[in-house]
Amino acid sequence: MKHLLLCGGHVIDPANHLSEPLDVEIDDGKIVAVGRSLSPDHALAIDVSGMIVTPGLIDMHCHCYPTFPFAADSLPTIHPDAHMPRCGVTTAVDAGTCGWVDFPRFKRDVIDRAKTRVLAFLNISDTGMVHMTGEDNPQTFHPALTAEVARAFPGTIVGIKSAHYWVHKPFDELHPPWASIDAMVRAADSSGLPCMADMQPTHPGRSYPDLLLSHLRPGDIHTHMYAPQFDVLREGKVSDFLFEARNRGIRFDLGHGAGSLVFRHAIPAVAQGFLPDTLSTDLYMDNVNGPVLGLTHIMSKFLCMGLSVESVIAKVTCAPAEVLRLSGLGTLSPGSCADVTVLKHIHESVGYLDAEGTRMAGSERIECRMTIRAGDVLYDPYGFCAAHLYLI
Ligand SMILES: [Zn+2]
Repeated sequence: MKHLLLCGGHVIDPANHLSEPLDVEIDDGKIVAVGRSLSPDHALAIDVSGMIVTPGLIDMHCHCYPTFPFAADSLPTIHPDAHMPRCGVTTAVDAGTCGWVDFPRFKRDVIDRAKTRVLAFLNISDTGMVHMTGEDNPQTFHPALTAEVARAFPGTIVGIKSAHYWVHKPFDELHPPWASIDAMVRAADSSGLPCMADMQPTHPGRSYPDLLLSHLRPGDIHTHMYAPQFDVLREGKVSDFLFEARNRGIRFDLGHGAGSLVFRHAIPAVAQGFLPDTLSTDLYMDNVNGPVLGLTHIMSKFLCMGLSVESVIAKVTCAPAEVLRLSGLGTLSPGSCADVTVLKHIHESVGYLDAEGTRMAGSERIECRMTIRAGDVLYDPYGFCAAHLYLI
């Protein structure tokens, strides 16, 4: 584990209200110091001038339990180490790919072996998205069992998830409108965790305001907030119930995905002050080549919508850490785990696509230049930490 000094960069650490030129010293996997003109003995000095140094980024909605071969009803997932460090992500939170049936294998084969820190929401359906047909069947929802498994992996399972339940079909006796959401909340109550809802409003019987104002609890998360199926805007104005939900403590997560960010919702909502609490990718194989690509690409879209670089960084560091109660993450406080990301803020003409194929022109983007996880360099494409220099 290296003794490193990142010097000359601009530190943005929203948890500590820092946005200024500072050096960061890392040793033994921890942040040792953040300050001006540090000069510790024996540290490898890395010149990051012209770049931004932030806490390691947290992507709080992705799908990273790879299964091969894919079953016909599986979500095509990614591998965390292949997709996350290159976008500055040191903590990837799997959003319910597994239910309790597959979780022990996920823990053993992926979470314990990945270099990226992987945390998880546990799906309320027994087989999660490994076999998505289960998400439509209330007989696969076992709140007590789900809560028990969640309690067995404290610090790794960080919440309960419901998704894809009974979309576009009429409700019947076997499929009540709120079966999945209410089972998820029961499991979250029993395990003392927050929950994350992916819900499709279906009328009559299941409305978006009812989800936010009656079924979720303060501290729970609605993901896919700018998806086309939600009445984010009424006559061009952000719907009042969204601000009411925010006031009662509901958290709003982007969860971009292949189909859940449309600029016709996001751009007016951002302009009117209804912003995501957290930015996340919902990364899986159907969107890695667009429109998501990775977390830095999502951050760049919000820069182009007018957010400051400090605000965008807060939504992928201290904000997800607070929502998911991840103490010690999302900060560069001395003594915390040395998860650190080095970013470059680039000003040039760019274009971004949403889930409907609409293009937004912009003039800035963020690129990851180096990713450090617990003091280990995971991503260093420009060779900042190279031991040897070949002169030509
Ligand atoms: Zn998802």
